[in-house]
Amino acid sequence: MGDPVKFWRSHDNWAQAEQAWDARAAELAAQAPLKTFRKNPNLPGIRPNTRRFLAWKSLSYLHRHDHSGKLRRYFWRHPLRHGIGLVKSLLRGRSYRRDDDFFLYGIVDVADFVHRLEQPNAVLVVGFSYCHKPFECPEGRFTDRCSHAPDSPVCGQCFIGKAVHSLPDARVIPLFITTVHYIGEQMIAARAAWPGHEVLFLITACELTLEMFGLVGCAVGLEGIGVRLDGQICNTMKAFAASEVGIKPGMAIVTESTQARIMAILHAFADATHVEPGNANPGRANLIATDRR
Ligand code: SF4
Repeated sequence: MGDPVKFWRSHDNWAQAEQAWDARAAELAAQAPLKTFRKNPNLPGIRPNTRRFLAWKSLSYLHRHDHSGKLRRYFWRHPLRHGIGLVKSLLRGRSYRRDDDFFLYGIVDVADFVHRLEQPNAVLVVGFSYCHKPFECPEGRFTDRCSHAPDSPVCGQCFIGKAVHSLPDARVIPLFITTVHYIGEQMIAARAAWPGHEVLFLITACELTLEMFGLVGCAVGLEGIGVRLDGQICNTMKAFAASEVGIKPGMAIVTESTQARIMAILHAFADATHVEPGNANPGRANLIATDRR
């Protein structure tokens, strides 16, 4: 079954589409609201004990769980360059700049990110952690699928659905992230599928994942923005390891103000791709096919 027609396509402009989406979401929420927590627990992003020796814990975890061997092979393709990158990451201690919920990897600021996205050779990997899929998600939570069904009252209230329905058809790879290895492998595949392009990412994840992913991601030159999730997040290695095998009883969220910032970036990117008629997107289908072996 092909992708459903995107909600944004049936409206004259971005503002109209977003307004109509939000109004419909509010209506659906009044009729049958999605399950969520009553009060945001405002958890610390990473527990103090978990933060101790986190770089080494991260490397150990990534190494031990690299079952496909794809991350390892990618790293050893350029041992000197990636090795130096890793040492630099370890010495720096922090692989990102922080701007509120945005973790910037290899990016000066959001304006720089948008400017780079607006270049004709830019490709955006936009990824959503399964931890903020609704409990009622028709595709299930711990999967890399999202049907963003136009008639579903669940998809109609889901921020992931909203973002996906706003995406342009060109130069974009939407992903629904199950594990830290999954996103690493998909980034590698995206680079291979788009030679001569700058592949940038915009992904949601818990702060712990952003720390772990950032360490190795920066070492191999991945650049983009990680969006910190709020709500019932994983902030210990134990909770993180459980979530990596689909055990995630809590609900993470993207706060409303951060949702608005994401939508503003997607808006700028959509405007930039809109002026390129006939720019087809070869990436997604190939990526899925090659990576599900
Ligand atoms: S939009 Fe996607 S992630 Fe959200 S509920 Fe629908 S299928 Fe699930």
